[in-house]
Amino acid sequence: MNAALSPVEQIQHELPDLDWITDDNRVTRLSQDFSWFSPVLKRDLAGKRAAAVAKPRSEDEIRRLVSACARRKVPITVRGGGTGNYGQAVPLHGGILLDMSGYNAFLWARPGVGRAQAGIKLGEFDRAARPTGWELRAIPSTFKSATLGGLFGGGFGGAGSITYGPLAAPGNVLGVRAMTIEAEPQIVELRGAEAMRMHHLWGTNGLVLEIEVGLAPALPWAETIVVFDDFDQALAFGDAVAHATGVVKKEICFLADPIPAYMHTLADHLPAGKHAILLLVAEYCRETTLEMAAQHGGEVTYDKSADEAAASGRTLVEYGWNHTTLHALKVDKGLTYLQSSFTPGEHLEQVSRMEKLFKGEVLMHAEFLRNGAGLTTCTALQLVRYTTEERLREIIAIYRANGVRINDPHTFIIEEGKAGGDLDPEIVATKRRFDPLGLLNPGKMRAWPYEG
Ligand SMILES: Cc1cc2nc3c(=O)[nH]c(=O)nc-3n(C[C@H](O)[C@H](O)[C@H](O)COP(=O)(O)OP(=O)(O)OC[C@H]3O[C@@H](n4cnc5c(N)ncnc54)[C@H](O)[C@@H]3O)c2cc1C
Repeated sequence: MNAALSPVEQIQHELPDLDWITDDNRVTRLSQDFSWFSPVLKRDLAGKRAAAVAKPRSEDEIRRLVSACARRKVPITVRGGGTGNYGQAVPLHGGILLDMSGYNAFLWARPGVGRAQAGIKLGEFDRAARPTGWELRAIPSTFKSATLGGLFGGGFGGAGSITYGPLAAPGNVLGVRAMTIEAEPQIVELRGAEAMRMHHLWGTNGLVLEIEVGLAPALPWAETIVVFDDFDQALAFGDAVAHATGVVKKEICFLADPIPAYMHTLADHLPAGKHAILLLVAEYCRETTLEMAAQHGGEVTYDKSADEAAASGRTLVEYGWNHTTLHALKVDKGLTYLQSSFTPGEHLEQVSRMEKLFKGEVLMHAEFLRNGAGLTTCTALQLVRYTTEERLREIIAIYRANGVRINDPHTFIIEEGKAGGDLDPEIVATKRRFDPLGLLNPGKMRAWPYEG
C-alpha cells in the first residue's frame, strides 16, 4: 500500500467495491445534522466533517469497512437520516462517516413485533408493516427521513408516546443485532435491557445492524385542531384527552399563542391570538373527542377523517415535536428551543407557571405523553427568543430551580445532555466490549475521551 496515502485513502483502495462519496460538498453536507437549531452547537460544530462517506449495502460490506478502520484506528461516525438535533452524527475527529441508509431491508412483522435493518426509514417500516395490521408504536415527526437505527441511537419517541411512552420504556425495543469495532468484528444479538445500553448513546458504544421493536395495532387516525382563547383551558383539554382511557390516541400537541402564527401552511385553521391543540385520535374516537372539545369551550377549526388526512398529503404529526421548531425557524431565525419534562400530576401547574415567568421570551409548546414509568404528563419543546448563551443558561437554571427537568439540547456531550450525570457503568462496559479502540463517534462520551 502506498505510504503517502492517508489512512482513509488506504481504506478506499482496500475496498474499491464499496459505495464511496468523496465529493467535498456532499461529504460536508452529510457530515451535518439539524444541530443548527442551536446557535451554540452551530458555533461549536462549525467546520467539523468526515474525510469520506461510505454507504454499505450488506452486512459483509459493513464488516469489511469496520475491520479496515479498526486496523488503522480510523474513527467511524454512524449516520442514519441525519435528522438528529445535537450534532450526534457530526464527526468531531474526521474519519469515515458510515451512512446506513443503504442497509434498509424490512425483515418481518408478527402480531405485536417487527424487525428491520437499521437503515430503514421509519415511514418505510410502517408502509411495510401496515398490511399485517401493525405499525410502529412511536414515530418522531421526522419519520419520512429518519431511520430506525437513528431513532434508537439518537431519538426519544414522538407521536404514539402518549400511549406507549418513550422508546426507552421497557418492551418498546426487544432486541438489537450489533457489530463490534475490531479487526475481526464480532456480531452479537442483545436482548431487552442489555440492548437498551446502546439506546440514545449517539452511536458511541455499538454499531447497530438490526432492531426488533414492539408494534401497535395500525389504526385509521383522524386529525383535528381545536383552538381556545384561554391558555389554561387549552392545556386542560389536552390533558383531558391525554387522561381519557377510552380515547385511543397518537398525538396531543399544545401550541400556545403566538406559536400557531408560525405555522404558515396551517394558517387557515389557526386564528390569530388563539392557543391550539393538534390531535390524532383513532377514527372511532373522533366523535367523543369533538364532544370533549365542546365541553372545554374549544372551537374545532380542522377535522379530517383518516382517509381525508391521507388524501390531503399532510399530517399534523409534521407540525408537532421538533417540527414546530423547524416551522418557526423558517419564519424567525432568532429563535431556538429547549427540551423539558414536567412532573406527572404537577405538569399543568408547572407549564402554566413557566409560561407566566417567561412570557414573551419562552413560547410554550408542550407534547402530552406517558413517561417511562407509564404516568401521563407532558414534555415541552419551548421556543426561546435567543439573545445570548448566558441568558439561555440562565433560563435553563431557572427552569431547573422550578423543579422542571431540562435535557439540554445545546451540547453534543452525551452526559451533559442527560442533565450532567455520569453514565451507568454498564453503558461504559458496553462501550469497552463493542468499541475497545474508542473509534465510534469519538469526543461525544465524556466517560471515554478520544486519544487520537
Ligand atoms: C424537525 C425535527 C423534528 C424532530 N422530531 C423528533 C421527534 O418527534 N422525536 C424524536 O425522538 N426526535 C425528533 N427529532 C430528532 C431526530 O429526527 C430523531 O431522533 C430521529 O429518529 C433520528 O434519526 P436519524 O436516522 O435521522 O438519525 P441520525 O441523526 O442519522 O443519527 C442519530 C444518532 O444515532 C446514531 N446512529 C444512527 N444509526 C445508527 C446505527 N445503525 N447504529 C448505531 N448508531 C446509530 C448516529 O451516530 C447519531 O449519533 C427531530 C428532529 C428534527 C430536525
